[in-house]
Parts: sequence; structure tokens; C-alpha cells
Amino acid sequence: MNKIAIVVHGGAGPDSSLIQENEEAYKEGLQNALSTGYAVLEKGGSALDAVEAAVIYLEDHPLFNDGKGAAITREGDVQLCASIMEGKELSSGAVASVQGIKNPVQVARAVMNDTNYRYLACEGAVLVAREHQLPVEEASYFMTGHTIKTYESGIKDTMAHHGTVGSVACDQQGNIAAATSTGGTAFSMRGRIADSSVIGCGVYAKNSTCAVSLTGDGEYIIKHVIAHDVSAIMEYRNSSLTEACYEVLHKKLKDTKGDIGIIGVTAQGEICMDFNCDRMLRAWQGSDGEKGVALY
Ligand code: ASP
Repeated sequence: MNKIAIVVHGGAGPDSSLIQENEEAYKEGLQNALSTGYAVLEKGGSALDAVEAAVIYLEDHPLFNDGKGAAITREGDVQLCASIMEGKELSSGAVASVQGIKNPVQVARAVMNDTNYRYLACEGAVLVAREHQLPVEEASYFMTGHTIKTYESGIKDTMAHHGTVGSVACDQQGNIAAATSTGGTAFSMRGRIADSSVIGCGVYAKNSTCAVSLTGDGEYIIKHVIAHDVSAIMEYRNSSLTEACYEVLHKKLKDTKGDIGIIGVTAQGEICMDFNCDRMLRAWQGSDGEKGVALY
């Protein structure tokens, strides 16, 4: 039996008063998401089910930027992007610019399982959600006190208002998976697609290398195709996961202005959490029993 491991993140970027004022609530949310995913793995469930369960928990949590609590666009609405990928067959599913769907990661999973496609946007993704009778919500459900406050403050520094959630896991069969879900960046133009749903950028999984979920400034993450790059460095250079993340974040991209955070796991249960900014909200339970939760 393979050793199990799971990591979750709740976004990386500059520190903020919202985080400082809600430190305990953020930690509790991360811890609960982790336990939700870990329980799936402990029972012999798949890494895919574990990351989906952990991300659903965070999508429902109002403090994280995805599902409930998602960032509000320039036009005053919410649009969601999510993805999921497993490392054995390299199967994946993703959705972009979805509105009114409570748990976009479930739609991504449905796209992966039950369509001939890998990536659906807008009404097409909503159609899949309806066909699978996935939960829908009114527009007001997604907007919470702090996202409305940010929108009304009119501070249009999109870099300062972003966030994402994600999870990576390794199961008893030695399979790994990753999922990422986001409300994108505040004041973004409607139709902007977040890296979080782009396979190879904000998410990637391959049993022979790693499963990774990214957070941070999506335009940089897409520009440098980071998730796949971490995997490629491991594959072509025979690097460890930790070395590959370090190489990308602190060598290749050391002069980049973008905030970037990466969580990763290998099929051997090695985990990695690395970031180049003030904070990355995260919780982990490694194959050696080591566990924790941290914001900075
Ligand atoms: N990567 C997300 C986006 O660009 C935001 C974040 O992770 O902070 O939409």
C-alpha cells in the first residue's frame, strides 16, 4: 500500500487586512478542507476524489476567492474557473467563465468524465452542470461582505485582489491528482480566463513526475506555463519536486514581478509548498505523518 499525502492552498499574494483580521478562520477553513480530503484517502479513495472534496469545501467557504466569496468582475458579477487532472492516464477537465454554479470543480470533473472535451466555457459548462444536476445558486450567493466592499471601494489594482484554492494528493494506489478553482482577479474584464483552469499552467498531474496546483498572478503563470514546467524539469533533469519548484520560482522567475505559489506532491508522497510573496495560505499532511497549517 502506497503512503498517502495531501496539500491544500487558499491563495498566495500580498498580505492583507482581511487575512490579518481572520487568521484563525482561514486556518480553520484550510484545516477542514485538508481533513475532508485526507478522510477520502484514508478510506482508500482516489486522489482525484480527495482533491475534489477538499476543493468543494473551500468553494463553499466565504473567505476564499472561489465559489462563495469569489472576486467581483469589472462588470459587477462573478465568473468562475476550475480544473482537475489525474496523473495515471493524464485525464483532465476544466471550465472557464462559469456563472451560477456552486461548485465549478464538480463541473470540471463532469467534463473530464462524461464529455469528449477537456475544456468548456460559459454556457457550455453550465449545460454540463445542469445535465448532471449539480447545485446552482443565485448571483447574490457568490458575493460576500468583503468582496462587495472591495468592489465598492473601487480600488482597481487587480494584482492586489486575487486568490484561488487548490489541492494535490497521492492515494493508496500511488496515483496523484490536482485540482484548482478560482474567482479570478477583482475588477477583471468579463471573459478573462484564469490560469487556474488552464491545464499545464495552474494545474498539472503526471504519476511519473508530480501533481501541482498554482496560485498567484495568472497572467505570469500562463506566460511561463508553470505547472507543466515543474513537471518537465523533474522529467528531463531528474530533479526532485522541491528542486523543480525552487528552480522555477527562485531561479528562472526570480526577476518576475508576479506573485506565485505552488503546492505539489509526488507518487512517492513527497510534498512541496513554495512561494515568492508574503503569504501562501496552506495546510498539509505528508506521508511521514507530518502535518500543519500556515499562512505566511
Ligand atoms: N491565479 C488566479 C488568477 O489569476 C488568482 C490567484 O491565484 O490569486 O485568476
